[in-house]
Amino acid sequence: MAEDFRGDDDLSHAGPRAGGLAARALDLARPKPDWLTALNPEQREAVEALDGPVLVLAGAGTGKTRVLTSRIAHILAQGRARPYEILAVTFTNKAAREMKQRIAVLIGPGAEGMSWLGTFHAIAAKILRRHAELVGLKSNFTILDADDQIRLLKQALKAENIDDKRWTARSLAYLIDNWKNRGLDPKHVPPGEAQAFANGKGGALYALYQERLKILNAADFGDLLLESLRLLRENRDVLREFQNRFKYILVDEYQDTNAAQYLWLRLLAQRSDPSALQNLCCVGDDDQSIYGWRGADVDNILRFEKDFPGARVIRLERNYRSTGHILAAASHLIARNRDRLGKTLFTDGELGERPSVAGVWDSEEEARVVGEEIEQLQRQGHSLDEVAILVRASFQMREFEERFITLGLPYKVIGGPRFYERLEIRDALAYLRCVAQSADDLAFERIVNTPKRGLGESTLQVVHEFARLRQIPLMQAARALVETEELRPKPRGALRALLADFARWTAEIEHKPHHELAEQILEESGYTDFWKQEKTAEAEGRLENLKELVRSMEEFPDLGAFLEHISLVMDVDNKDAGERVSIMTLHGAKGLEFDTVFLPGWEEGLFPHQRSLDESGRAGLEEERRLAYVGVTRARLRAKIIFASNRRIHGLWQTTMPSRFIDDLPADHVQLVENARSGSDYGGYAQSRFANMDSFGSKYETPGWKRAQQRAGEAPAKKPPTIDGEVVGRADGASGFAAGARVFHLKFGPGTVAAVDGAKLTIDFDKAGRKLVLDSFVERRD
Ligand code: ATP
Ligand code: MG
Repeated sequence: MAEDFRGDDDLSHAGPRAGGLAARALDLARPKPDWLTALNPEQREAVEALDGPVLVLAGAGTGKTRVLTSRIAHILAQGRARPYEILAVTFTNKAAREMKQRIAVLIGPGAEGMSWLGTFHAIAAKILRRHAELVGLKSNFTILDADDQIRLLKQALKAENIDDKRWTARSLAYLIDNWKNRGLDPKHVPPGEAQAFANGKGGALYALYQERLKILNAADFGDLLLESLRLLRENRDVLREFQNRFKYILVDEYQDTNAAQYLWLRLLAQRSDPSALQNLCCVGDDDQSIYGWRGADVDNILRFEKDFPGARVIRLERNYRSTGHILAAASHLIARNRDRLGKTLFTDGELGERPSVAGVWDSEEEARVVGEEIEQLQRQGHSLDEVAILVRASFQMREFEERFITLGLPYKVIGGPRFYERLEIRDALAYLRCVAQSADDLAFERIVNTPKRGLGESTLQVVHEFARLRQIPLMQAARALVETEELRPKPRGALRALLADFARWTAEIEHKPHHELAEQILEESGYTDFWKQEKTAEAEGRLENLKELVRSMEEFPDLGAFLEHISLVMDVDNKDAGERVSIMTLHGAKGLEFDTVFLPGWEEGLFPHQRSLDESGRAGLEEERRLAYVGVTRARLRAKIIFASNRRIHGLWQTTMPSRFIDDLPADHVQLVENARSGSDYGGYAQSRFANMDSFGSKYETPGWKRAQQRAGEAPAKKPPTIDGEVVGRADGASGFAAGARVFHLKFGPGTVAAVDGAKLTIDFDKAGRKLVLDSFVERRD
């Protein structure tokens, strides 16, 4: 993917664009810096227009991203802003990394310190951490992933006694994400929509979920933007701080911004002096808008001129990436969409190889054929880094992974289910999250009894109950409980030992390199042993993964930075390795390019994906077609489309039909590869064959928290109860028991209070004798 900025193919166009005669003469006399000579006139116009809003609206491979990179180099070289005064938004972390490297190539060390170059999420998280307390979080808040989010929502549903088979956590997550993508916090959800879920409870569940996140000191992905938007909206001084800081704002893939991102950008782009120009430069392509299902709104790009008066709109038409046949095939395909602006693209390059379309019997043969072709490319001296496999759905990856492992063909999976999502890695991360942030309940729940240490359901129930009553984190609740006899001696001992471990590990953070600490935690917690005892090949693999995890931590300055990276990073690639084939989803391939691109699984139902068709009809189909366009236009030299006649999904064989997108390709620009076994069956469209492919499971369930919150609210008001000097409840939740009071305890029955020590009560039970218990579990019996 190396980009040659010194390419001189456009020197002929490299004349000055504007200015008086003297200025032009001066301009001509001065040699143009590299980043300008490597651009065509339109690209240069976009780079040099440093004052006022600029929109570059252009097709795939026309150099939009190159314009952004060059523009940053130009801004820095001209001294218009310092690196940290430029806000540059890319779509993936990988793209951000590449952009940084390219700027460094262009202007050298002057590019260092571009600390605000990243994805929307990464930048929003950074802003949020600086001022977390203004939105009810602490600066070390945890970023939850989709799995945690679903778990939490399941708890909410359970607490509300909502049948989660009928009203699933997943559909609630979808609803909430949708609101978040539109920049709507619970207060602003339109009343009609708030009624949407579980007989009118949608809005209330959203509010509860948000409250719960604050108690956990956590934010989900959607919150990063939503909460930082709220922060900027509600705190003028903070907004001013960032508006003044960001002298230039640049956005790649603007067609895929959602409403929340759009509002956020618009706020930041406003100048405190209204007469000042908004130095916002956005680049995008309406034909590559592929995140509509996630709330992206392609209208943002179409409205740009209206939103930013005086905006300069620049179009680029020359494609520098793909050979003629590939470009023709892609252009023909996308022309089938009705809903588009329409653009012409041309290339001066060669016609090259025609994109191929091949039929295979099933996914196994598909992986085998691809493997063979890649080995052949390798033998011909092509680099594996220049080969990518782009799939529609991540489940397609496994077959390729397995084949490549068999062949010993190095590969990397970018995006999708990945290393950090494996069970053992998630467990290990949960330990680390607890050490970094003791209020991280989801992490604590995950590992409290992993490996098994005799802390069963009933014990955890007590911990949960107490945490909910007092509205405190689980770990804090557990610390209070082990001081009493609420838990049976065995689990109490086990829990106490675990808490002591955590206290020790937390104390070590300051003194030990974090990767060494991680290793120590995995050893001392018994987690490594737990897998060692299994003695299976699978367990071996897991142990290797754990080692890999510890190794990867060395790249980060501290535990916080590492965990932040994990939360945000979508692509994990193995740095130390040599050339590798890339496997990724089409969605994840945006903006990238490869010499050879394999496009497997072009079958009706899979691509276009049945769910898109069912949910969004023609709009869904057009979005799928744009995805196909993105796929084909990733290829520089070779595009290889494949469909299988049979595919196994979740264990069931399905007979499939070739994708209608294959019919959309122009016959004279593609080459059909005959395959005797599959019988290359073109035409005709299969009906719905793919049931919902997503499934969510949760290992951990806990009783609801809403009911408990209500009960906590009824507690009598006094000063906060403490245990060992640590506040274990809210100020209004003090015990209110006095010596001599008759009480009833759920487990131990009736008794008389003998002594009171904060929240701890010593009680002489009629039957069970003297016990130390917590006031929350005791009811008055006057
Ligand atoms: P996409 O829509 O896929 O994001 P893009 O418009 O951002 O594409 P780039 O990735 O910037 O396009 O450029 C595509 C390829 O063309 C890159 O390899 C880039 O280096 C090359 N390129 C762009 N402009 C020029 C130019 N003026 N001269 C030579 N090569 C160029
Ligand atoms: Mg790009």
